[in-house]
Amino acid sequence: MVRIVGGGLAGCEAAWQVASAGVPVTLYEMRPVRGTAVHKTDRLAELVCSNSFRGDKLDNAVGLLKEEMRRLGSLVMRAAEASRVPAGAALAVDREVFSNAITTAISTHPLISVVREEVTTLPASSAGEPLIVATGPLTSDALSADITRLVGGDHLYFYDAISPIVLAESIDRSRVFRQSRWDRSISGREGREGHEGREGQVGQVGLAGPGVACGVDDGQGDYLNCPFTQEEYERFYEALIHAESATVHDFDKERFFEGCLPIEVMAHRGVDTLRFGPMKPVGLTDPRTGRTPYAAVQLRQDNLAADHFSLVGFQTQLKWGEQARVLRLIPGLEQAEFVRYGMVHRNTYVNGPTVLTETWQLKQHPTIFFAGQMSGVEGYVESAASGLLAGLNAAALAQGRPTSAPPRTTAIGALAFYASHANPAHYEPSNITFGIMEPLAKPPRGKGDRKVAMSNRALDALAAWLRERAA
Ligand SMILES: Cc1cc2nc3c(=O)[nH]c(=O)nc-3n(C[C@H](O)[C@H](O)[C@H](O)COP(=O)(O)OP(=O)(O)OC[C@H]3O[C@@H](n4cnc5c(N)ncnc54)[C@H](O)[C@@H]3O)c2cc1C
Repeated sequence: MVRIVGGGLAGCEAAWQVASAGVPVTLYEMRPVRGTAVHKTDRLAELVCSNSFRGDKLDNAVGLLKEEMRRLGSLVMRAAEASRVPAGAALAVDREVFSNAITTAISTHPLISVVREEVTTLPASSAGEPLIVATGPLTSDALSADITRLVGGDHLYFYDAISPIVLAESIDRSRVFRQSRWDRSISGREGREGHEGREGQVGQVGLAGPGVACGVDDGQGDYLNCPFTQEEYERFYEALIHAESATVHDFDKERFFEGCLPIEVMAHRGVDTLRFGPMKPVGLTDPRTGRTPYAAVQLRQDNLAADHFSLVGFQTQLKWGEQARVLRLIPGLEQAEFVRYGMVHRNTYVNGPTVLTETWQLKQHPTIFFAGQMSGVEGYVESAASGLLAGLNAAALAQGRPTSAPPRTTAIGALAFYASHANPAHYEPSNITFGIMEPLAKPPRGKGDRKVAMSNRALDALAAWLRERAA
């Protein structure tokens, strides 16, 4: 039997993998008995912020990671396909349909028992009965204290922030235009390179690089764009830097995840920082002027009914009244009704390289696995991916088989390697990027060709690893 604490993306994926291997699972989830600051429902695998699983093509690393997960029988990927909404070349879902699909699959599985209670101390574990801890960034305080006791002072936390959502009917359609950046779309038209990351990471990060923005445009998809003139942008900027923040004022001291900065923190770094970040206008042409706007805010459909749109990359910690006032200066959002305001939240994770192996086991206590955001990865897909591998390995341990990780040439193996081998002194959770994967010995010339070659190599390596595991 395997015990799993936390019924989020990682815990559910792990439970599915363990049960699929024929090993019984007890899955503990504290909601609705005890809530978190961010979850709103009692559903398993609730998506707490964006409804996007990001890019879905093999020329970006998260697209590759998803394909690997599909080939490993991922429940999260299956539920995501079944709840897909239009989002260009990205995979975005209707959050309710998605978490209902997962809840049904888990709670009706004959080998899985779901227990709705808060776990306050880590349950006992043994090789025959391993434990997976997948309690996520909002792990309850009592359990956090117990985990600190287990892993020592390497148990860390920092702050993260989420983007506001507006009601579709309150958007002034005469002021916005629908377009995908660089005209990249799901129909297969390829524009210029999008970037990747939680929703937008550029470049090679190596083993100690940062992850990326909470909801920054993934460069792909069916977006509503709010175009700014220079004058409109300057008015918005002035209002933003003078608006009142809900909590933190000393931006330098606050430990924000560098890739997920609130817009007001970015704005304080310089007048043009937003124009090169979430408000970048490149790749967009306003059909009314035939020109690229001075700046732009992108709105992405957030649910199947298309009546909610989120402001891409607009995580913020402004007071709610201030958010309404400042964000209504965005062209097209003058009358916006806010379904949800942006907010700041805690993010709890362990220092992976200090405490974890690449099979997601604790070095000092190999019968305990960590998975999900808590294990030091960043993002929905990465959390589910670490849950998948932790689940496969916990099942193997329970059955007396060896644990193992796919090679670093695969995305799922590279993520596990990063979380267990990056520099512990500067450890930051990372999204999957090609930068943390093993480089090609003989890379083709073009950047796009290089990425596709890495993906093809990864899928071959994954198939070989699966064959070895089955032998
Ligand atoms: C506010 C916020 C916004 C985010 N936005 C995004 C985003 O837009 N895109 C993205 O890719 N990633 C985002 N992330 C990061 C991350 O991908 C998500 O948090 C993701 O849900 C992590 O999956 P998980 O399974 O590790 O944790 P979760 O999905 O949070 O699941 C953990 C589960 O454990 C339960 N739990 C906690 N403590 C206990 C306990 N003591 N006993 C029993 N159960 C417990 C919780 O109720 C929860 O259901 C965000 C994170 C936060 C906090």
